[in-house]
Amino acid sequence: MKANNQMRITFLSRSANEGFARIAVAAFAAQLDPTVEEISEIKTAVSEAVTNAIVHGYADRLGAINISGRLYPNGKLVLNIKDRGKGIEDIAQAMEPLFTTGNAEERSGMGFTVMEAFMDKVKVTSKMGMGTTVTLTKYIKAKD
Ligand code: ATP
Ligand code: MG
Repeated sequence: MKANNQMRITFLSRSANEGFARIAVAAFAAQLDPTVEEISEIKTAVSEAVTNAIVHGYADRLGAINISGRLYPNGKLVLNIKDRGKGIEDIAQAMEPLFTTGNAEERSGMGFTVMEAFMDKVKVTSKMGMGTTVTLTKYIKAKD
């Protein structure tokens, strides 16, 4: 199916941009007339993916994060959150609840679990040294 609308943003992996990313994606998704709850779920999932790119992907440097969004006529929203950071060695393990390579005081290993709870589909592709792309899909139901 052909997308009805499309957007792309690129920003630096500074934590100050996390709020920018959430709000930019929410503003784009608003075209589908989502409920307050649906918007809040999208913002939370985007935050988790962007935080991962910042703290894990670009753990020791700054880099570019790309988000592309596509809207389809059936209310499907597809978001791609992409970094060119260090990559994930074992994606299945990374997506397990409570798995983290981060500092136990700051990270709980629940980011992917939260994304899966709030979105209809979460897909991760990654290559060591090349970066990671997280694809989040959500169906926004039509309101009558
Ligand atoms: P939390 O999200 O609860 O603060 P966390 O970030 O460790 O903790 P997840 O978001 O579920 O938990 O991610 C699990 C693990 O996957 C991370 O600890 C990290 O090793 C790896 N990971 C996730 N995203 C990326 C990324 N963009 N680049 C490199 N590694 C990543
Ligand atoms: Mg995380």
